[in-house]
Amino acid sequence: MSEIEKEKENDEEVDEEEEKAKFIADTIKACNIAKEIRELIKPKVQVGIKILDLIEEIEGEIIKRGALPSFPCNISINNIAAHYTSPSFDETEIEDGDIVKVDFGCHVDGAISDQAFTVCFNSELDNLVKASEEALQNVIDNIKPGAETNVLGGIAEDTIRQYGYLPINNLSGHQLERWVLHSDKTIPEIKLPYGEKIEEGEVYAMEVFASTGLGTVHDMPNVYIYRVQPIRIPLRNKLARKMMTFCANNYRTLPFAKRWLVKEFGFKVRLAIRELTMKKIFYEYHPLADKQGSFIAQKEHTLLVEHDSCKILT
Ligand code: MN
Ligand code: MN
Repeated sequence: MSEIEKEKENDEEVDEEEEKAKFIADTIKACNIAKEIRELIKPKVQVGIKILDLIEEIEGEIIKRGALPSFPCNISINNIAAHYTSPSFDETEIEDGDIVKVDFGCHVDGAISDQAFTVCFNSELDNLVKASEEALQNVIDNIKPGAETNVLGGIAEDTIRQYGYLPINNLSGHQLERWVLHSDKTIPEIKLPYGEKIEEGEVYAMEVFASTGLGTVHDMPNVYIYRVQPIRIPLRNKLARKMMTFCANNYRTLPFAKRWLVKEFGFKVRLAIRELTMKKIFYEYHPLADKQGSFIAQKEHTLLVEHDSCKILT
């Protein structure tokens, strides 16, 4: 190897190390903001409150602190596990007896925080919340370099089953990378025959769901959250073209809300969204639910894998 080539290789290594450090620093910033907002919002999750008001407050607090939402704030109630965010003018209020999951995060230059907590207004479900919290803690206690994702999934499952509930077999924790909310590496919440090894320096959003239902979620019909896919094909609708460019520039690879588009472009977005989803330029995040009448609790933290353990960042 020539001297110039050697030097170039060294430079690249330094850049990579620098980027890793910067990624972790930015992630910590995003997590600190999420932590602050969680403490501010938790006491406001009350019966009679409109969830749209909570969602807008959370997203507003993120922006006030100089970050951006890493995905639309999700407030999922009862048998809905995830991916519900209010549409514009959503009148849904929290009712007595509800179990409410508040899942939000922000990003600093694409470095993401992702966390969730559950507030329960049905004392019969207090153990369901406990099951999800304890399962997450047990997994966290075992995350370190070399730990296997399928074994971690088994720990979550065992904890939840000890309470007499089911984990959700088609949801999982996920590695976070800059501008990537759901990276390839995942941590399930069920025992699996094989997995991958956790490595030092990785960042994960580990989340655990405990359910009184079937332990599997299915897509609900109406979609409120999208993401731009890296596909460029001709679009007939002028607004669709405009929206595609807007979303690619503003949200890049991260999810965004239909509600945000309505705010930007008005109610005429419906037709444009239809073309964009039909052509698969917009990926659709359907709200995910277990069977009617069941209840789900969720707990999630963003974690940094350290030398011999992991650190909760949120
Ligand atoms: Mn989340
Ligand atoms: Mn997550």
